[in-house]
Amino acid sequence: MPILPITLCGDKILRKKAAKVTIVDNEIIGLISSMFETMRNANGIGLAANQVGADKKIFVVDISAVEGNEDSKPLALINPKIIAKSEETTVFEEGCLSIPDQHADVIRPKKITFEYQDTDLNTQTLEADDLLARVMQHEYDHLMGILFTDLVDEEEKKRLKKPLSKIKKRKVEVAYPTSTSSDYQIL
Ligand code: ZN
Repeated sequence: MPILPITLCGDKILRKKAAKVTIVDNEIIGLISSMFETMRNANGIGLAANQVGADKKIFVVDISAVEGNEDSKPLALINPKIIAKSEETTVFEEGCLSIPDQHADVIRPKKITFEYQDTDLNTQTLEADDLLARVMQHEYDHLMGILFTDLVDEEEKKRLKKPLSKIKKRKVEVAYPTSTSSDYQIL
C-alpha cells in the first residue's frame, strides 16, 4: 500500500473507538507497512490506524529519528491495552499529524505498560517511559477516539478553538497528503 492521506480533526473516524483486529491477513500487513511509510513521509513519530482512515485497533511508533533515541526500534501494536501506569507524571508539548501546526502541553504518566498483539497475534508486553511512553499513550488515545486537544486545560482549549475550526474546514496548508472529506474511510 502507498502513502495514505492523513485524517484531520473533525473527521468522524477520529472520534470512534477503533475496532478490534481478529485476523492479521495481507490487508492488515499492507496497512501496517503503509502506516509506517505515511508516518515517515509526514515526519511523524507515531500514527494510529484511524489517522489513515482504517477502523482498526493498530498503531505504529518510531522515535529513532529523535536525538537520544537512535536505538529505539519501530513498533507496531495490534489491539493495545494499558495494563499499568506510573503515578509519576510529566508535562510535554504534544502535536499531532491530524492537527497540523498546533501544539499544547499535556500531562501524562511518565511510565506505561502495554499489552498488545504482534503481527502473529502473539500477546506481548512492553514497558515504556519518557518519550516512547508519551507517544504510545497519544496513539492509544487515538484508538479510543481521544485527541490531545481534549486533554489540555481550559485556557488552552479556548486558544485552540479557532485553529481547530480552521483545520476542520480544511482552511489550512499541510505539507503531506490529507483526507478530503470528514467521511474518509478505507478499511
Ligand atoms: Zn495524534
